[in-house]
Amino acid sequence: MIASQGQYSIVSEYAQGLQIDFEDLDRAVDLIFHAAAQQPFVGIIGTDDSTMVLATRAAIRLGLPHNSVESVNLTRRKDLARIRLLQHEVNIPEFRLLDLNVSLAEQCHDVVYPCVVKPVSLSASRGVIRVNDFSELQQAASRIEKILAREERLDAEVRAILLLEQFIPGQEVAVEAILYSGDLDILTIFDKPDPMNGPFFEETYYLTPSRLPEAIQQQIHQQLEAACRAYGLLDGPVHAECRINKEGVWMLEIAARTIGGLCGQLLRFGTGYNLEELVLAHARGQRLDICRQDEAAGVLMIPTPEAGLLKRIEGLLAALAVPLIEDVNIQIREGYELVPLPEGGQYLGFIFARGEHIAEVEQALREAHACIKIVTAPLWKIKL
Ligand code: ADP
Repeated sequence: MIASQGQYSIVSEYAQGLQIDFEDLDRAVDLIFHAAAQQPFVGIIGTDDSTMVLATRAAIRLGLPHNSVESVNLTRRKDLARIRLLQHEVNIPEFRLLDLNVSLAEQCHDVVYPCVVKPVSLSASRGVIRVNDFSELQQAASRIEKILAREERLDAEVRAILLLEQFIPGQEVAVEAILYSGDLDILTIFDKPDPMNGPFFEETYYLTPSRLPEAIQQQIHQQLEAACRAYGLLDGPVHAECRINKEGVWMLEIAARTIGGLCGQLLRFGTGYNLEELVLAHARGQRLDICRQDEAAGVLMIPTPEAGLLKRIEGLLAALAVPLIEDVNIQIREGYELVPLPEGGQYLGFIFARGEHIAEVEQALREAHACIKIVTAPLWKIKL
């Protein structure tokens, strides 16, 4: 059963749906509880950051397996998560919290740059900005404050603080994994081949299997398992971002959910399972054996070139005709507004490729991207 905020079932008529209001958690938990009386559930799966707490509370009410509310909350609060990971000696950047109600100069006289400044409770890299000196920090902080002011659902506490942390240079990877009673199965490690040095951190290429040496992949496994233990996460999907440099593996972010957007499509396993099947099997208490395929796969999250109204996207057929390209999927319709980072956070679209070798998959994605031209019109907003 799918519980969603939409008025109509998000699947077609034959599937049942439950309409809930994410703002009213108590009532949503009640509705799920009553639905379970009609048709019992074996598990409850939150699909994204905003539904994790509700899924956990509903599972508690129904006596179903769940992570602790505290551990799930940590995955939604970067500041509390950093403090927890520090206590457990997981390798994380040096950090401090900035109070937006106190002068930044007072709080930052001894900061060593470059740093990254970010809100403590947004996702998809929104509001994450690299700063190289104090004046950039001041500008970034006021930009993030404006982003937070436009977010309706945030607590006052979260609006008043920012996280400032040491910029970690190095190669970045994303990790997709599932926890089984604290035991971590890494499903895949995605290499991000383009350098991500800021000032904003737009996701672009994800390639799998990773080209990192086996020993580093083992370190990533150990660090991520230690980080999950520190949070108290025991079960279910985990999505993490790490950086690797000569000082080791650094944990940047951990979420108790699967990868966002359509990227999960890249995970088709030798056993014939896709990511959703693995997650559903986990909820049923089954640990499926993953036997990795030899083939390589990749996705490009198409970068948003500039702010404006999307007029049209040219070259889609040419992109699709590039060998090894499997699909080009545009998510934003013509006429809608494009908002680049750090304010925006939507995915414009995805290009998928599959092949024998990772290098040819990467090349195909780059060629397909070169075929695409995104045409925008300027957007004028009238302030009343
Ligand atoms: P979100 O949860 O919104 O995606 P993250 O904290 O994961 O925010 O940051 C988004 C991206 O910004 C990371 O994937 C990474 O590329 C970059 N980033 C964040 N913090 C750091 C850091 N301390 N050093 C280097 N890059 C960082």
